[in-house]
Amino acid sequence: MQEECIFCKIIGKKIPVALVYEDEDALAFLDINPIAKGHTLVIPKKHYENLLVIEQSDLNALMETVQRISISIVKTTGAEGFNVLQNNGEVSGQGIPHVHFHIIPRFKDDNVPIGNAPRGKYEENEIQKIVEMIRNGIPERKVEKVNEESKEVEKEKPKEKSKKRSSKETYWIRRELDLA
Ligand code: AMP
Ligand code: ZN
Repeated sequence: MQEECIFCKIIGKKIPVALVYEDEDALAFLDINPIAKGHTLVIPKKHYENLLVIEQSDLNALMETVQRISISIVKTTGAEGFNVLQNNGEVSGQGIPHVHFHIIPRFKDDNVPIGNAPRGKYEENEIQKIVEMIRNGIPERKVEKVNEESKEVEKEKPKEKSKKRSSKETYWIRRELDLA
């Protein structure tokens, strides 16, 4: 719970929302400025700034909720498809530093500019360099699959510095990986 966080205020019922779903770990509600009718946000009740710092087990539970709400959106809105969008960092368009998933119903010819961004091409030799760079940066698994059940192997506490950040301070996702 972060006092100045809008989503924490929503969780604490200090700001009303059009509530779609609530359980002990998550909340889903309609986005106040929808990209399409039925555009829903799914958030964890615990305050995590972004996808890099959310505990693996909390993320797994949250994704199950994202799937369940998506099923309802597809069933009830008549959407022919949907986008699950999750922004991290201001540069990506994240406006609220409390991790959240957008579920955006999509309809034929709706002209929503998501999923059809202009694409580029790699220069010769560039693709090999980039694929190796990303392969080498992948951290070890934190969760091991045991008899169909996920068991946490190593529980990493969120870094202290994330907690101490004031809401006025510019948040920056590269800091979470100690890259800045
Ligand atoms: P993002 O830009 O990914 O951080 O998404 C934040 C989303 O929260 C935006 O799409 C906003 O329209 C939405 N939002 C902000 N305040 C509220 C609110 N009080 N109730 C519902 N949605 C909100
Ligand atoms: Zn929050």
